[in-house]
Amino acid sequence: MENIPVVMIIFGGSGDLAHRKLYPALFNLYQKGLIHDHFAVIGTARRPWSHEYLQEQVVAAIKESNNSFDEKDAKEFASHFYYQSHDVTDVDHYIALKELATKLDKKYHAEGNRIFYMAMAPRFFGTIATHINDQKLVGSGFNRLVIEKPFGHDLASAEKLNQEIGESFAEDSVYRIDHYLGKEMVQNIMPLRMTNPIVNNIWCKKYIANMQVTLAESLGVGTRGGYYETSGALRDMVQNHIFQIITLLAMPEPKALDSDHIHEAKQELLDSLVIPTPEMVKKHFSRGQYLASDDEVEYLKADQVAPDSKVETFVAGEVNFKKGPVAGVPIYFRTGKKMKDKVSRIDIVLHHMNNLYGNAHSNNISIIIDPRSEIFFTINGKKITTEGLRRENLSYKFSKEEMDQVPDGYERLLHDVFVADRTNFTHWSELKQYWKFVDAVEAAWQDENKDIKQLEQYPSGEFGTESSNHIFEKDTEHWIYR
Ligand code: NAD
Repeated sequence: MENIPVVMIIFGGSGDLAHRKLYPALFNLYQKGLIHDHFAVIGTARRPWSHEYLQEQVVAAIKESNNSFDEKDAKEFASHFYYQSHDVTDVDHYIALKELATKLDKKYHAEGNRIFYMAMAPRFFGTIATHINDQKLVGSGFNRLVIEKPFGHDLASAEKLNQEIGESFAEDSVYRIDHYLGKEMVQNIMPLRMTNPIVNNIWCKKYIANMQVTLAESLGVGTRGGYYETSGALRDMVQNHIFQIITLLAMPEPKALDSDHIHEAKQELLDSLVIPTPEMVKKHFSRGQYLASDDEVEYLKADQVAPDSKVETFVAGEVNFKKGPVAGVPIYFRTGKKMKDKVSRIDIVLHHMNNLYGNAHSNNISIIIDPRSEIFFTINGKKITTEGLRRENLSYKFSKEEMDQVPDGYERLLHDVFVADRTNFTHWSELKQYWKFVDAVEAAWQDENKDIKQLEQYPSGEFGTESSNHIFEKDTEHWIYR
């Protein structure tokens, strides 16, 4: 691998994301040689840490994440880390940050290359971007901005944020990160669709009855109720992760596998996204809040949650496109907290081919994204000794050794930032469409005149609200994973 010269500035260097994901991912890239002698990282946050303390934290983060921990290597890596205590609203701190970045650039021969990573509360993204511009923090080489979710709270705020970051960064140097796009099985959707003639030829309304995307978490909000109150399941999961997965399932085949062609195909699809009317929201969406379990209080009693909060911890709904190979195929999704399992999966439900075998089981293609990586086809075969059909799975899965080799999504995506590959990052024009969809659903929910289904309470440990079992276009449809 290349040895890319760069000074990276992580805003939120003492945070959970930096500790659990970014430091271990950067260490793996360091071990692979992508960054090595000519890189430095400045962690900035409010706390009054020293360089040494940050370095200890980096070593601890690697130790917690890595089975084959090598202390000497980890310490050597951590010696490239520097800490700058920083309040995002204080101009002087940006000036100090600029001085430190310039000094490290010289020390490590980083050739004026800078990567800025916004890993802190989203309400600060715009302020940081404005200061990067005003205090001229950009270097003389390449400058890239990696920005975490959520990108805005609705279309209007996302547009404002986009304008703010646009003052310092051209669109092609903005990397809106969605770690689902770095997951092994999400990256397998295109090869599955495009290489096998059986799969490729059935990818249309004639053969696919519906598609289902489930991103379920088994935990509740815990101590992060304050953040969750500003978001909810629709904004936290659908606007980004679920839409990215759906886009990969429904987009036309790109003319080539490079970033430009893939985004062109995505855009062609998203331009035909059906923005839901209140009537559609009424029939095909459901939302709710979890009730208590043995180990966690109900959402309304969680820390920093308003006792009369209307924020949804579960949402199910439907997405449709007017164009693309699966135009007209309903794509259902559901996501929530305190559900039965922690699981991310896609189920493609195929039509029954004829009535001769009235008792045939549903034929599906399932893609399990987490916690394991697997693709399986559910097929029907005859029972050996008695009448009737038996259900079997044809499976593609990884051995333990292969699973161990799968890089974390953050490692993959950080690698892509270093090599300037924007294939697996969200472009502004795509994000705009996602927000239009989310805003339309929110508006319908807020409009009390529309007689939309109210927020339901749902039991912990199941699959969300009762009414989410009735959002389908046809009575015969149901969730495959129950
Ligand atoms: P966190 O609360 O753990 O960390 C926030 C960081 O910001 C801390 O370093 C804190 O010191 C710093 N900070 C807060 N206020 C500040 C101020 N006024 N001035 C300077 N620094 C300040 O948050 P997190 O979980 O690390 O999340 C960061 C971002 O990453 C968010 O956008 C979140 O949506 C996203 N994200 C997090 C995860 C995760 O697993 N934690 C996963 C996906 C996305």
